[in-house]
Amino acid sequence: MLPPFANEPLTDFRDPARREAMEQALAQVRSEFGRRYDLIIGGRPVRTQAEIRSTSPGHPDQVVGLVARAGRAEADQALAAAEEAFRTWPYWEPTARARVLWKAAAIMRRRKLELDAWEVYEAGKSWSEADADVAEAIDFLEYYGREMVRLAQPQELTRIPGEDNENYYIPLGVGLIVPPWNFPLAILTGMTSSAVVAGNTVILKPASATPVIAAKFMEVMMEAGIPDGVINFLPGPGGEVGDYLVQHPRIRFVSFTGSMEVGLHINEEAAKVRPGQRWIKRVVAEMGGKDAIIVDETADLDDAVNGIITSAFGFQGQKCSAASRVIALEPVYDTLLEKLVAAAKAIRVGRPDDPETFMGPVVDEGQYKKILQYIDIGRSEGRLVAGGRAIPGEGWFIEPTVFADVPPDARIAQEEIFGPVLAVIRARDFDHALEIANGTVYGLTGSVYSRNRERLERARREFHVGNLYFNRKSTGALVGVHPFGGFNMSGTDSKTGSHDYLLLFMQAKSVSEKL
Ligand code: NAP
Ligand code: MG
Repeated sequence: MLPPFANEPLTDFRDPARREAMEQALAQVRSEFGRRYDLIIGGRPVRTQAEIRSTSPGHPDQVVGLVARAGRAEADQALAAAEEAFRTWPYWEPTARARVLWKAAAIMRRRKLELDAWEVYEAGKSWSEADADVAEAIDFLEYYGREMVRLAQPQELTRIPGEDNENYYIPLGVGLIVPPWNFPLAILTGMTSSAVVAGNTVILKPASATPVIAAKFMEVMMEAGIPDGVINFLPGPGGEVGDYLVQHPRIRFVSFTGSMEVGLHINEEAAKVRPGQRWIKRVVAEMGGKDAIIVDETADLDDAVNGIITSAFGFQGQKCSAASRVIALEPVYDTLLEKLVAAAKAIRVGRPDDPETFMGPVVDEGQYKKILQYIDIGRSEGRLVAGGRAIPGEGWFIEPTVFADVPPDARIAQEEIFGPVLAVIRARDFDHALEIANGTVYGLTGSVYSRNRERLERARREFHVGNLYFNRKSTGALVGVHPFGGFNMSGTDSKTGSHDYLLLFMQAKSVSEKL
């Protein structure tokens, strides 16, 4: 019997045995650096002339792996393979499809530390951040498998005499899955497994910064017995192969997670009907954030500082849920700022394979340059009170950076930086704080630290974000516990890890027979 869903426990790296096992996993993964990974189309490996060199953010001349790089010809082959598989996969029993996910979860659980280690080296995650990402991938597999079984149950309809009626869910068709690099296993696994367990077949185009972890996911799915062509693995540049498939008339849906700019572009391109197209493409787009934490004078300030530091600087601030604005009420502004600066300066920045590291490098040179540009902009918009520099030497390391006295309409208070840069904003009162919090185009996560019940109730109604937290950090949503997705320009509010999610990849068929 299937046990009810429960979140995968995190590895306790304070346990010397786990620590030792993780060191071994890191060594094992290092010994596999530089390997080649092929595309997988219709279950078969395909090697390309061109390749993606995936390097380690802490050591950019270390090649983690060489991954085949698809172009349009391979995209066409992948589409044909997915269409072929769509002839049979939807007719697998829903439970049989779910079993592939549960088997994959079991394999990931066995390979957990190895997968953690790949994340450490390819994405620059600290041990605990890497482990949380792998645990979340396992959660998605367990959860969406169960969701498919639930949704396959007969639906209750109002009965009328003389007719036999039913309503049931069928898949959409061939979809394109476009995940980001920042949760390289969890988000990719969630987006891909949800679509396929619902009976669709897909082309998975992973983010170009983390294609090796994506290749590991493919290995796991193949070992779990996913039939040929159900998931076609197609790394390649988003602007080329991604765009081509988004526009393709035979793609039925696009599931995207990434930046607002790319998400809006995909939404627009997918909306245009091309010759031969027979449907309105469905687009699920989860995008960026400019997430705020409000702190008032009734809050436990030390607790707030802990939550802010974790939310702003965990994984170098490269989370859609990361706190990039702190909105402090006048009476606590100076004290909070002082504590925050001290805590930011105490953060341990270092190589992610060192277990003592809290903050590692940012993901690549492009992000590194972009973040440093925003820090320059910040110098003229606010008062730099912590960090502000790149760390000299190898790797894409940037100091945890805090700007104080930032006007709410400053660029560093409005635009997503996606790095370790925090803007601290002063609010006259709670009304003003809510107005500032809601004053961007985004609406993903937010936190309020307060002991004032009335204010919390107001925030419940008026703080317009998809994921609102009280007296806790704004990051770390758990599958099944905190359904995740944002409002406004943060996306289509798909609510991953919830009972609503699988329906996005299905359509309902209503059949009525006269008796
Ligand atoms: P990104 O630059 O938008 O890229 C996301 C994906 O889109 C990548 O696979 C990328 O491929 C692909 N892509 C780029 N241009 C494309 C095009 N023209 N057509 C089709 N695909 C294209 O985002 P990112 O830098 O990977 O991730 C960071 C962003 O993701 C942040 O904005 C963050 O807030 C957001 N995010 C949101 C959520 C959420 O749940 N709301 C979760 C995580 C991250 P290449 O890598 O080859 O360019
Ligand atoms: Mg990007």
